[in-house]
Amino acid sequence: MPSLNEIRSTFLNYFERNDHRVVDSSPLVPRNDPTLMFTNSGMVQFKNCFTGVEKREYNRATTAQKCVRAGGKHNDLDNVGYTARHHTFFEMLGNFSFGDYFKEDAIPFAWELLTKDFDIPKDKLLVTVYHTDDEAANIWKKVAGLPDEKIIRIPTSDNFWQMGPTGPCGPCTEIFFDHGDHIWGGPPGSPEEDGDRFIEIWNLVFMQNEQFEDGSMRALDMQSIDTGMGLERIGALLQGKHDNYDTDLMRHLIEASANATDGAPDGPGNVHHRVIADHLRSTSFLIADGVMPSADGRGYVLRRIMRRAMRHAHLLGAKDPVMHRLVPSLIREMGAAYPELGRAQALIEETLLGEETRFKTTLDRGLKLLDEALVDLPEGERLPGETAFKLYDTFGFPLDLTQDALREREREVDTEGFDAAMEEQKAKARASWSGTGEAANAAIWFDLSEKLGATEFLGYDTETAEGQI
Ligand code: ATP
Ligand code: MG
Ligand code: MG
Ligand code: MG
Repeated sequence: MPSLNEIRSTFLNYFERNDHRVVDSSPLVPRNDPTLMFTNSGMVQFKNCFTGVEKREYNRATTAQKCVRAGGKHNDLDNVGYTARHHTFFEMLGNFSFGDYFKEDAIPFAWELLTKDFDIPKDKLLVTVYHTDDEAANIWKKVAGLPDEKIIRIPTSDNFWQMGPTGPCGPCTEIFFDHGDHIWGGPPGSPEEDGDRFIEIWNLVFMQNEQFEDGSMRALDMQSIDTGMGLERIGALLQGKHDNYDTDLMRHLIEASANATDGAPDGPGNVHHRVIADHLRSTSFLIADGVMPSADGRGYVLRRIMRRAMRHAHLLGAKDPVMHRLVPSLIREMGAAYPELGRAQALIEETLLGEETRFKTTLDRGLKLLDEALVDLPEGERLPGETAFKLYDTFGFPLDLTQDALREREREVDTEGFDAAMEEQKAKARASWSGTGEAANAAIWFDLSEKLGATEFLGYDTETAEGQI
């Protein structure tokens, strides 16, 4: 059974053999792209190659790209621990053509790798195409011999990929694997498509248009290819598993989490171990790429992930900080492929330990307050916004941490009440400054308080790149 590390190499070698340049993953913080919170797909580092603005010495590339989807448009944070297929941090394997090959080659490249090199049974695979893309449907028929019912035409944006309101875009085709009817879910396009039976493994985008701000679209001079396949998803499949978290690498992290806490990876704490394993990866990789926990922007997303992980460790009965102790396991698993982890080990461990030590003092008290509030809360009622705000303001609970805690008990937060409480606090702060006559100082203080007031706790949606891939 191939390990995730072996599968990554097989993928890159396959495309290298087919004349692609193996390019390193770019950092999780996109260079020169303030519109995007984190790198969320393989194409991010090649954006300008598709429009022709940037020329490189190669026109075929392949990468294993570090991705984080925990903020902005692509936010899988709430899926972690609950679905079989989502992480906040994952690796996207991709092959790219910049004005070189197009559909006629991209489809056979993918099909050959999956069915020959990876030896996946053909009858378990099905694909989607954009509803008007007869060309792609015909290539699938010819190359893979798929029957019409396994070439599903999708009319929605799921199969017309756009980087954002502007930029390169085009129709795409996606490859799905059927894990069997013992798992709930339906084929793409059906009402049950969000189940985990039919798992999307690979998205091939046919870059052929450019979208402009005024809504118009032009055909690009070059036709290009941008693909993305989740390493953990193809890994699960090749290891005969359904769940990404049962792959070798994730499993080792789950075991490390269990060894540091309740000793039972598959016991009732399993969901907590999954969350911890996932969050260990995203937090460590973000710190290695220079993000530090802070009160806003990228740093606040990092802090939210860290604190969520800490709550899950707490639920496992951990009395002392846990996360920093798991870093060596992560480096053992991923340090060879990503040497930046080893280089940043001390920083990662210190940052995790510092954050966990500081948060520990208020975490216990905050969770107690939350428990008490829930005891008094009539059935069916939402947690009052003021309580969630107190947890945020006094105990350092990001709103989504409170929501995560409530989800287990099928409760929700009154988010309008939360916003109102936040506004009220800001208004009070402003009022207390009026009349001092120190307008300039007040302005400075305001800037600071806005900044420290975690302005983007509800989602920081300045990310405009909608990149599905
Ligand atoms: P899904 O519909 O399952 O959420 P997606 O359509 O959002 O996936 P794409 O944006 O098309 O995913 O990304 C390309 C590939 O990256 C997917 O086909 C999948 O293999 C992988 N992928 C996407 N999101 C995640 C995630 N959160 N965790 C692990 N792999 C992912
Ligand atoms: Mg998704
Ligand atoms: Mg999808
Ligand atoms: Mg997709």
